[in-house]
Amino acid sequence: MFATPRERLRWGLATESIVVKIRWFGIVMGYVLVQTRTGLHNPSAVRAFLALGAGYAALDLAFYRMDEVFLKRWPLFVSLMESIFIALLCYHDTGLTSPFRWYYLLSLICCAIRYRPTTAWLTLGIHCLSLLALAVELGIKPGETSDWPLTLAIMAWATWASASLASILKQTGARLEHLNAELESHRVDLERRVAERTAALRASQAREIQHEKMAAFGLLAAGIAHEVGNPLAALSSLVQMLQRRGPDPYTAEKLGLAAQQLGRIQRTIRELVDFSRPASTALARVRPAEVVEEALGIAKYYQRTKQRAISTDFASDLSPVRAVRDHLTQVVLNLVLNAIDATEMGGRIHLEAKVDDGWVMMVVEDEGRGIPEDHCSRLFQPFFTTKPHGTGLGLFVCRQILEEMGGSLSFESEVDRGSKFTVRLRAEHAEPILLAAGSERSAAP
Ligand code: ADP
Repeated sequence: MFATPRERLRWGLATESIVVKIRWFGIVMGYVLVQTRTGLHNPSAVRAFLALGAGYAALDLAFYRMDEVFLKRWPLFVSLMESIFIALLCYHDTGLTSPFRWYYLLSLICCAIRYRPTTAWLTLGIHCLSLLALAVELGIKPGETSDWPLTLAIMAWATWASASLASILKQTGARLEHLNAELESHRVDLERRVAERTAALRASQAREIQHEKMAAFGLLAAGIAHEVGNPLAALSSLVQMLQRRGPDPYTAEKLGLAAQQLGRIQRTIRELVDFSRPASTALARVRPAEVVEEALGIAKYYQRTKQRAISTDFASDLSPVRAVRDHLTQVVLNLVLNAIDATEMGGRIHLEAKVDDGWVMMVVEDEGRGIPEDHCSRLFQPFFTTKPHGTGLGLFVCRQILEEMGGSLSFESEVDRGSKFTVRLRAEHAEPILLAAGSERSAAP
């Protein structure tokens, strides 16, 4: 009837609370009956048996207090004990007419509530035998014969009624338990869905912030290009005009230097504008080495890049990848900037691109401070940052971008030894792009 042992124990404890009270009430009632009546065969024996009963009830109560049911595995043994106990009470009281015979009824009701109907009917059998033995021992008197069928009928009636009632209650309890379990599972499911939606919302919010950041950067770069571009073009043409006038060697040399520096400023502005132009989201065949070069071209303007030795190594058989070019550049740039941030002055950063088993790997390795163990699990969470002015969105967005392109981002790190971030993207099956392998560069622009 009960699906789980937990339900059975809960039911057992609930009924035990009633049974314990019925037992104590029976003991108190017994003392009152002994004290207030006369004509008992042996009142001292009745009192002694009641004391024994009180001991048993105390044991029962103690077990109940410990959330246990005393002798719960031996219901028929308990019925037998009760049967003998009631028969002895009746025997030393007034025999078959003793009010203690109604204790059989209470015992049957308790048994029917607590156990299966079979146990209740077997208990009825035990009690009938007990009553019969008592009658045989005392000798059935003519006046008492009419009580027999009635007592037995009432006992059978009470067993049937309480067993049926308990059965309905148990079924209702089991149904409620089942409904409760269903409700609980719905609640867990709902909580999981809310958590999923919240995570998705956080993710899209994080991407939005990152995009806004990039857009703001683009706007700034475009503004600077516009403001600086015109005077720069004017300066450039002035220098060219002076150069055409055939100046003396000293002036020509200085004008050449000025033209060079002006060219550099113009290149810088073009690079910034190129990087910050609205990103194209089209998938295209992209050469990893070009992406790395482009990212490094931007990174060199980062103040901290100075005095870090950045080296690259591109495998000669490097295949292209299918990717959104601007997004991939953004990923590599973010990894390089992180590596620069983690590295002290004079530290080394190495970028590598190679092919491994159909995958193109782009590795950014630094000799920086490394990542502490407790940060590792939170590294890709949005808004996790250890930098005073960090947003904690870089790695999160990088991983998202790569997963959208069917790739992945992983890392290894050792505290005080450095970190290695690896971008993996499926190689496009095409002719490998042959490149000059490896280069060393000075980080200063
Ligand atoms: P942000 O750069 O704004 O902090 P990121 O998501 O790019 O956001 O990086 C999150 C954190 O991961 C950084 O604050 C830093 O603590 C850690 N981290 C990332 N790359 C490295 C690295 N190469 N070496 C050490 N720590 C790193």
